[in-house]
Amino acid sequence: MSLLLHICCAPCSVACIGELRQEGLEPVGYWFNPNIHPYTEYRMRRNTLQDYAKSIGLKLELNDDYGLRPFVQAVAADIDHRCGVCYTMRMREAARYAAEQGFDSFSSTLFISPYQTHELLKKAAEDAAREFGVDFLYRDFRPFFRQGQDEARALGLYMQKYCGCIFSEEDRYLAAKRRKKAQREAAAAAAAVTVRQT
Ligand code: SF4
Repeated sequence: MSLLLHICCAPCSVACIGELRQEGLEPVGYWFNPNIHPYTEYRMRRNTLQDYAKSIGLKLELNDDYGLRPFVQAVAADIDHRCGVCYTMRMREAARYAAEQGFDSFSSTLFISPYQTHELLKKAAEDAAREFGVDFLYRDFRPFFRQGQDEARALGLYMQKYCGCIFSEEDRYLAAKRRKKAQREAAAAAAAVTVRQT
């Protein structure tokens, strides 16, 4: 069975490709991620994947569209619920390309991430499979996430610090800010208790 494997980044692909190869499947990788911003981050993740694919003999097809504007336009109406739109964009393109190129099926390395909304992603892939008339190969790779990330780190692959879009980069800083505020408040509360006790 021929399989087009949409790849979100090299670290997530490590365990997925390993598992698929153990099943006797040899996927062809497909890069299409207009959700990754800014361009320097996009380039770093793409180049890391290209180097990694070469090192493991994986055939890789690039749809090298940075796509900042269409992505932002697509999610701008509801930024807080943007992930469904992001999944649909990527799964539709993977299914479209798989059908066009005569693959039997497609899947995605996004199914390894415990940080993605797995069921929403699965539905986006199933809908795309129906729309383009190609099979969606579902695998829940999540049990292999930690092992894959450890392997990627050991290989010295670039490990990103946020999901991809500019809004997830903002979330990362907002979360850090919220954490620091909570720590300051906890320290102030502890100091107040100590003063009352003395
Ligand atoms: S947080 Fe991740 S999945 Fe959600 S829209 Fe941004 S890049 Fe896509």
